[in-house]
Amino acid sequence: MMTGGHPNSHWRATAKPGAAFAGLDGDRQVDALIVGGGFTGLSTARELSGRGIDCAVVEGQDIGWGASGRTGGFAVPRFKMNYSTLAREHGDEVARGLFAQAVEAVDSVTETVEAYGIDCGFQRNGHLTPAHSRTALAGLQADVDWLRGRAGDRTARMMSREEAAEALGTQVYHGAYLDPRGACLQPYDYTRGLAAALQARGVPVFTASPVEALRRDGGRWLAQTPGGTVRARSVVLATNAYTRPLLPGDDLHRRVVPVASSIIATRPLNSHERQITLPCGLPVTDTRRLVSYFRILPTGQLLFGGRGDITGRRDDPAVFRTLERQLALTYPHLKGIEIQERWAGMVAVTLDSFPHVGRLDDGVFYALGYGGRGVALSSLMGRRLAALVAGETIAPGPMGDSGFDPVPFHAWRRTGMRIMTRYYQVRDLFER
Ligand SMILES: Cc1cc2nc3c(=O)[nH]c(=O)nc-3n(C[C@H](O)[C@H](O)[C@H](O)COP(=O)(O)OP(=O)(O)OC[C@H]3O[C@@H](n4cnc5c(N)ncnc54)[C@H](O)[C@@H]3O)c2cc1C
Repeated sequence: MMTGGHPNSHWRATAKPGAAFAGLDGDRQVDALIVGGGFTGLSTARELSGRGIDCAVVEGQDIGWGASGRTGGFAVPRFKMNYSTLAREHGDEVARGLFAQAVEAVDSVTETVEAYGIDCGFQRNGHLTPAHSRTALAGLQADVDWLRGRAGDRTARMMSREEAAEALGTQVYHGAYLDPRGACLQPYDYTRGLAAALQARGVPVFTASPVEALRRDGGRWLAQTPGGTVRARSVVLATNAYTRPLLPGDDLHRRVVPVASSIIATRPLNSHERQITLPCGLPVTDTRRLVSYFRILPTGQLLFGGRGDITGRRDDPAVFRTLERQLALTYPHLKGIEIQERWAGMVAVTLDSFPHVGRLDDGVFYALGYGGRGVALSSLMGRRLAALVAGETIAPGPMGDSGFDPVPFHAWRRTGMRIMTRYYQVRDLFER
């Protein structure tokens, strides 16, 4: 399985001191074992402990080592695909359900932060989705219209080209979609704060304990780690882009394509730069196929993220140079600015751009495949996973397990991704 320490991320550099976690030493028995100490695993543990179900979290590296401790930290109440498009493809009722779940997802992060008093710079002031082309702008406008006409929701609104330029401090976008329900947080502090709160409430959280294999042992599952074993009635696989086969016939890892996402953070902006760079201060995720996402950090630095290297190399200097170029295109006055932090992590992409939750085997459940939308949706998936462990059925829909099959030609995924990335780059560049 994967090895290696934490990246030198801004989040690690500014992390608050917190609880320590130990490795699994010896043999244990719980009702539910959660494999993976990121948002998905920890949210599931929170929901299970809230239901009084005895559970433990086992993390192969460290809490927040995966995408959760490296993410931009934007909790976005929309999917990559427009609601109006989802309504055309799946019907109004399904699209209304998806919209409700996207909002529930951000609400559930808010509730967790508040319930456990997690000190993670959580702010819920809104999120901006600016349009990189006229077509994208029309799609966002169609969303606002659909939400008003078909979902009875008047919260999100459009910003004109002029208003968006003023809010963003850049002329490159054609207008923007503002949803005041969006939020952002310091993801490493959130992940570790959540794990510490769970541990303090009696949920064991083990680190440096990779599950090497899962096998049946009487009526239970037995998870083998280097330091000991855990016997459990149910197992939740919360390993997202770092998923490897753990039990016989396990093809979960072939249902997603792991893709790197990378981030740079500038030196702190001076007061003049601060006034003209993203003056509204909201987190931003644009509509490009290869999205750019950015925000001003509490330190006054500009965080700027985008698609990373597709070969799985997370430290490729060329990727960070591409991000610097994209930053300079967005904010020409910051061209050549000193970059203080560079880091990357892996996201899991699915063919339909939806995360999926479901059952892999009797008593083995999973949720993964968030693409770049896991901060909020993983919290929602934690709720769904806890319901499955408790023996409840969850409503079917695009995020369920039907049709979530292995990606065809998975062995060729890198070649395929390389071709698609180039194609998307060209389309993003020439679309006006
Ligand atoms: C650079 C970057 C920026 C992003 N920005 C955003 C954003 O702004 N907004 C947004 O919504 N989403 C964003 N995402 C996506 C989001 O971070 C992820 O979707 C989310 O963190 C997934 O959480 P997770 O818990 O499912 O997976 P992870 O956080 O990746 O956790 C999986 C964990 O499983 C562990 N594991 C794997 N195998 C085993 C095993 N066998 N035994 C024990 N442990 C194991 C790993 O060590 C890992 O810690 C970003 C991702 C990256 C990388």
